[in-house]
Amino acid sequence: MTNRLPAGGRESRRPRSAELYERACRVIPGGVSSPVRAFRAVGGTPLFIARGAGAQVFDADGRAYLDFVGSWGPLIAGHAHPAVIASVSEALARGMTYGAPCAAEVELAERVVAAYPCAEQVRFVSSGTEAVMSAIRVARAFTGRELIVKFAGCYHGHADHLLVAAGSGLATFGRPSSAGVPEAFTACTRVLPLDDEGAVAELFAREGARIAAVIIEPVPANHGLLPQRRAYLSALRDLTHQYGALLIFDEVISGFRLSRGGAAERLGIAPDLATFGKVIGGGMPVGAFGGARVVMARLAPDGDTYQAGTLSGNPVAMTAGLATLDLLARESGWERLEDCGAELERLLAPVLAEAPFPLHLVRVGSLFWLSFHEAGAPRTAAPLTADETARFAALFHAMLDRGIYLPPSAYEACFLSLAHRSAELTQLAQALREALATIA
Ligand code: PMP
Repeated sequence: MTNRLPAGGRESRRPRSAELYERACRVIPGGVSSPVRAFRAVGGTPLFIARGAGAQVFDADGRAYLDFVGSWGPLIAGHAHPAVIASVSEALARGMTYGAPCAAEVELAERVVAAYPCAEQVRFVSSGTEAVMSAIRVARAFTGRELIVKFAGCYHGHADHLLVAAGSGLATFGRPSSAGVPEAFTACTRVLPLDDEGAVAELFAREGARIAAVIIEPVPANHGLLPQRRAYLSALRDLTHQYGALLIFDEVISGFRLSRGGAAERLGIAPDLATFGKVIGGGMPVGAFGGARVVMARLAPDGDTYQAGTLSGNPVAMTAGLATLDLLARESGWERLEDCGAELERLLAPVLAEAPFPLHLVRVGSLFWLSFHEAGAPRTAAPLTADETARFAALFHAMLDRGIYLPPSAYEACFLSLAHRSAELTQLAQALREALATIA
């Protein structure tokens, strides 16, 4: 399966996608339902996907691509896995939503509680954004404090108070990084750089009594992949304990991906609250947050902290999550994904060594990122230069022309699934070798 397209005239080779994009732009802002899909960082017209199967997606023009986006993380079993589809089809036949409790949500909650280090109770929502928003609300209610600490480069969804850019170096007062967010909404958000426990200690020394929670992606994967030192995450754990603040791990990407117990299990560090999304919904719109019973008890109806959702705990979505977790357990999924990642590293090493410019592979389990930073892969949210970004855009299109679908931004991580086997990894390495040669 190779899709070599002649240089130039890309759009004309994908007329159906081009036509759909034109129609979409008339009725949907930017033509997309989520901004990064618009290809703005790489140029060109987004692929409109008609279907997926295993490790492949097929665009509206019938072209096949080996997919390393995986719908941005949920598809750990690959596209349209027969076991997941069978379970979901059965659930569908019993109705799509009841707005009342169902057995599947109890089962999935039991699964999360059994798997995740700090989770005694869990509540389901419909997206990662909602999970984080709700976890922060309950953390504030529980501690009776207002301030939230986040880290530059970590993304926690698009709730107003978390859409905050980094200040450089020292702690900064949160400044909204989106229009439409009043400064007052981010006045209780503090932003610190990653990888700097001194900055966290300093902030706690200054404002510790007001800090409700520190939230971090334990394996930051939204500004490239920025694995943190265990000692640093451990310092966050100690400082939050010391000052009576909660530590929230945002495991929307890492949860049920990096291991059964997410990054917390992998690192051996238990937070007070954790948020989930993506894998836990097996491709359906699901988020969840969980933690100690004493914290979660603050939620309505038992407690005073309101949180709700018409489609929360949706039976079809819960079933997709259960089927996915079953599959991972049955097929030694986490071990296989680790082996797959290790094989990817072996296959890409010689290709990267011969690249015409510095190119680094960063990998944690089934997450990987090609860092275009000339200076080497960073551990903090370092911006790419215009030249480095242009190289990524060229590589992205050269890969697309060879039938490889990478995330359309230099800052996005790539996802492996159980459907990626040696043949697919070899295909990726070969395409990368060719693509690098063409853009040299
Ligand atoms: N937290 C993290 C770590 C994420 O990566 C994302 C989305 N990529 C979110 C929260 C928000 O999730 P959603 O897009 O489902 O709202």
